Amino acid sequence: MRLFLYSLFVVSCLSLLLWTRPTAAVAAAESPLPGATSGGDAASTPMPKQCRLGKTSTQILGWRWKPGTRVRIYYLKNNFSEAEKEAFSRAINNWNKALKEIDSRVVFMIDGEREGAVETDGSITVLRGIPKGKDQVGQLRFFSLSNGVMYATMIISPDVTDLNALTSLMTHEIGHSLGLADCYECKRGTTAMAAFKGSNKGNDVYEPSECDKYVVAAGFANETGAQARVVLTEQK
Ligand SMILES: [Zn+2]
Repeated sequence: MRLFLYSLFVVSCLSLLLWTRPTAAVAAAESPLPGATSGGDAASTPMPKQCRLGKTSTQILGWRWKPGTRVRIYYLKNNFSEAEKEAFSRAINNWNKALKEIDSRVVFMIDGEREGAVETDGSITVLRGIPKGKDQVGQLRFFSLSNGVMYATMIISPDVTDLNALTSLMTHEIGHSLGLADCYECKRGTTAMAAFKGSNKGNDVYEPSECDKYVVAAGFANETGAQARVVLTEQK
């Protein structure tokens, strides 16, 4: 048996921060924030105008799938109903659409059920379980082995049964696997990385926002050393 050193990154996520800020309810995704200075037309603006770090846009973490990875998603056997898996598929398809646009060469493929957690390179096993930590509804455990193998397990709390909440949670967790950090302080509706409204409610985001796509693209551009298509800057 060969042993590999590995690093384990755990992203505990979606604490139940209940937001009561009235503006959150009416803020439409991607609408410019009040008081935002206009920064010229879209062609000359490196970051979409509505993206404000910590307000409508999240930060990037240090790890993500390698560019070109075809990520296989497995479900632990009998952990999810067909309807629940369909709810996940909506999130996965939306991310695939976004990843095509930003030319990351990462694609997610749904590959059916397995008896146990899969540990092959570029895989995610999704399962029901209790995420570590108080009031957590989901968790992504990302393993990076010294031989270059990367895989993840995604733990979905049994409390999350609402289909829209599951789509929202999968959108969020895939965001983590692409290097997006949580942004609990971000306005709900602006990023997939915002907090949940409750244990069985989503965060009103079912596909990556323009800002999410921008931040993911910036991460991949930095990693490959290729000419950056985007520049990650905080607008003032
Ligand atoms: Zn999270």
